[in-house]
Order: sequence, then structure tokens, then C-alpha cells
Amino acid sequence: MGQATDKPAIVILGAGPAGLALAVQLLRRSEIDARVIVLEREERVGGIAVSFEHEGIHLDYGSHRLHPATDPRIMNDIRALLNEDLLKRPRNGRIRLLGRFVKFPLNPMDLALHLPPSFILGILRDSLMKPFRKKTEPKSFADAVMAGLGPTVCENFYFPYAQKLWGLDPREIAVEQAQKRVSANSILKVVRKALSVIPGLKPPGAGIFYYPRKGFGQICDALAAEVARLGGEVRVSTAASAVRIENGRAVAVVTDAAPDEAIRADFVFSTINIISLVKMLTPSVPEEVITSADRLRNQGMVFFYAVLNQQQFSPYDAHYFPGKELIFSRLSEPKNYSATTQPEGKTVLCFEIPCLVDGKTWKATDDELRQTVFADMAAMGLPVEHVDHVFTRRHTHVYPVYTQEYAPDFDRLDGCITAMAGLTSLGRQGLFAHDNTHHTMEMAYRAAECLRPDMSWDNQTWQTHREEFAAHVVED
Ligand SMILES: Cc1cc2nc3c(=O)[nH]c(=O)nc-3n(C[C@H](O)[C@H](O)[C@H](O)COP(=O)(O)OP(=O)(O)OC[C@H]3O[C@@H](n4cnc5c(N)ncnc54)[C@H](O)[C@@H]3O)c2cc1C
Repeated sequence: MGQATDKPAIVILGAGPAGLALAVQLLRRSEIDARVIVLEREERVGGIAVSFEHEGIHLDYGSHRLHPATDPRIMNDIRALLNEDLLKRPRNGRIRLLGRFVKFPLNPMDLALHLPPSFILGILRDSLMKPFRKKTEPKSFADAVMAGLGPTVCENFYFPYAQKLWGLDPREIAVEQAQKRVSANSILKVVRKALSVIPGLKPPGAGIFYYPRKGFGQICDALAAEVARLGGEVRVSTAASAVRIENGRAVAVVTDAAPDEAIRADFVFSTINIISLVKMLTPSVPEEVITSADRLRNQGMVFFYAVLNQQQFSPYDAHYFPGKELIFSRLSEPKNYSATTQPEGKTVLCFEIPCLVDGKTWKATDDELRQTVFADMAAMGLPVEHVDHVFTRRHTHVYPVYTQEYAPDFDRLDGCITAMAGLTSLGRQGLFAHDNTHHTMEMAYRAAECLRPDMSWDNQTWQTHREEFAAHVVED
């Protein structure tokens, strides 16, 4: 094994928001005198929250915004790193419901004006009927959402959206998905959310978001620079390929970049997906753990970008499309997130197309996607014109899929990792959670607190935090 230093070594797998925030927090703890090394498979840091530049425009992997729900300590840290580059922006989105566009986040006046009266009456009827709906323990996402919101919202919004995002019938999706993904789970909460956009009734943070001037990935770029400034190391293009276990403890990490030179580790944190992690433990874990890992599913996504020779396509930051008839779930126009007018005469659209990895959509050529996407847009009265060129990016792990059977399989993987000393899995991929960036950074902050200076792990406190993480609700 390499490394000629007596200091303990902490190795972190993955340089997305979780891995980088964790490295910074560990380096800031003066009582921890250790080397901190972050290993990242890709050429650049950022994970799903990365940005890249194309034709002078900063692009993200789909719509990314920093939500005002971010813990104030984390928000202050991000602000301190980005300074005036962290912009405060008004939200300006639309959602397509029943073939019409309404403001998103929802606005009661706009809903009343633009949706058919039968829809509004349906919601009111469902809300009045709620006390009379069957009160059985919900067994699926469909049961849970139906119990809270009733048939009008479910059939016109949540059910098709769920099918599109996770590729499953809502009755085949576990009830936990509703707890994590449906923030307004009763008509009363929907109404409260809608009313919250009215001046005077606005809670702090309603109707705004934060966005870095150079794309969402600027957060991770700044965190990586901070890791370096504090004396840590981020190695990009360095994929972990094995985590060596001796006597029940993680002791070293092997990488693709230098397979013959394992990195000694006194503690390993992993933010890569837990399925890959259990498979890289050496010696191998029991066969039933691998079988469970093989059963866990992630939804993939094709990001379809269209570069237009036009200053602006629309004034909206994002359009949400829950309907099953369209292959994309959301459209964003990155220039509108930072309100930049540069470059002149060019804009880019990003369509998010959730799909099965290696399925038909995943394998479709750019030209095939172009035809489908543009035909769908034209049919809605939103023709995409002045197209310079299109291109795609793909990501294999965008949404963890909570099938009815996922929980025991995830628990088996989780139990296997938790039983190892010197190894903790966290982050969106590491805990198979649907979480936002601020949630995943919160996990990192908590993890940094649970490591003791002697490299032992306060598992009791960590498990308490895990219960807090389970209550996270995703913000759109
Ligand atoms: C379409 C979409 C839109 C989103 N919008 C928002 C939003 O508006 N606001 C918000 O707060 N959040 C949003 N999110 C969520 C946000 O992207 C994630 O919460 C965040 O990126 C998770 O960070 P992470 O570090 O836990 O995981 P990741 O970002 O997945 O990072 C994991 C890292 O591990 C690396 N890795 C994998 N395998 C290896 C290996 N073998 N060795 C070394 N490195 C490896 C990966 O390359 C990656 O960099 C969105 C997510 C999606 C998919």
C-alpha cells in the first residue's frame, strides 16, 4: 500500500454535494488530524448536481435550484463560498394540467381562471368526501395519495406523473414514496401551499429560489476548491473499484487509476450508489446481499438539450409535464435560472426524459428523440424553432425506485454496510433516497460530526440522524 505518512487517512468515495460537503466539514474539525482524500470517477466534481458549459451557457442535468428550505447553517456556508454569485431569484414556472398551463408553484387565482370548473369542483367534492373515504392502512403510493387528495388530483396529476417518473403503476409503488415525494398530501396542504404565494400570506422563502451565477454545479466547484484550500485532496477520473475489508473493518480502497496501489484508509465514507458499494467489498459479501442488490432498481434519465439561435424561448424557468402522453417530465431554460442575457442570440432548452436504463428511449438516437420531443412541443402550441443543434447526456441513477419489495432488499444492504467498522454510506445514492442537494449536504454535516478523532464511529447518534433523514420531503 502507498502513502508514507503516519496521519490517519479518511477516504471519501464520490465528489457530489454529499462527498464534498463531508470533506469540508471533516477538514474544518480541528480535533481531527487526518488526511482527507475524495475519489471521483468522473472528470469533474458535482455528481448529478454538476454543470457544464456549452456555447457559453452553463447547463445543469435538468432543473436544479437551491431551495429556501436549506438548513440556515448550510445556506450560510454556501453563501460564504459563492458570495455575490449566489443569486436570489423569483420562481416563474408553469405546469400543464388538463391540456392547459397554470402557474407553478400553484396560485389559487390562476387555478380558478385557467382550470375547468369541473376540475375545481372535483377537488372540492373530494375534500368534502375525505372523512367518508375508507380509512384502511395504505398499502401503496396509490392508496396513500388517494386517501389524502382524492381521485381528481390523483387521476389528473399524481398517478400519471408517478408512472412517468418511476416507470411503475402507482399501485406497484411502495407507500414510502408518497411520504417522501408528495409534500402537499392533503387538500388542505395543497390549498395552504397555493395560498402561500399571495403577498401577506407568504411564509419566508415562498416563491423564490437560490441559484449560482455559473450554474448549479458552481456549489460543488466551490466546495472542491475549499477542500483543496483546507489541505484535502480531490482526485477526479479516479473510480473506486474495491474496498478491502479485514477483520470486519474497511482498511483500504483500490482504484481503477492505480489498481496495484491501494489507498490505506482508517475510515471510508461512501456516497456512491449502495448497490455498487456492496459489490466492491472485498472479500465478497454473502450471496443473498448481492441478490438483494440486483433487485434494487434505479430509474435512468436522458437529458435532451436543444441549442436555439434565439435570445430566449420563453420567460419561464421550468415547465412541468405530468401527463403520460409526453415523454419528457420537465423542460427548463438554463439562461432564465440566472437571468443572464449572455450569450446574445442563443439559448438552450433542457428536456428531462425519465426512462429505463437500456430501454427503447434510453437507446434512442438524438435524431429520434428530436422528432418525438419537437412533435410533442408543437402539438401543445410550443413549437421549437431556430434549432442550431441538439445533443444528449444520460445518467443511469437519477431516481431510486421504491417498488413494493424494495425495503427488505435495501435493509439487507444497509445492514451489511452498517455491520462493517470504518465504513459508512450516505448521500442520495448511498442511502437510496430521493433527496435534494440540501438534504444530502445535511447528511454530510451530520456524518462529519459522528466521526470521533480516534477514527471510531458514533453509530448511535448516526442512527438517530438516519431517522431524521427518513422524514425528508423532496422539494421540486
Ligand atoms: C433531474 C434532477 C433534478 C434535480 N433537481 C434538484 C433541485 O432542483 N434542487 C436540489 O436541491 N436537488 C435536486 N436534485 C437532486 C440533487 O441532484 C441530488 O440531491 C444531489 O446531486 C445528490 O448528491 P450526492 O452527492 O448525494 O450524490 P451524487 O450527486 O449522485 O454524487 C455521487 C458521486 O459519486 C461518484 N461515483 C459513482 N461511482 C463512483 C466510484 N466507483 N468511484 C468514485 N466516484 C464514484 C459519481 O460520479 C458522483 O459524482 C435533482 C436531481 C435530479 C436527478
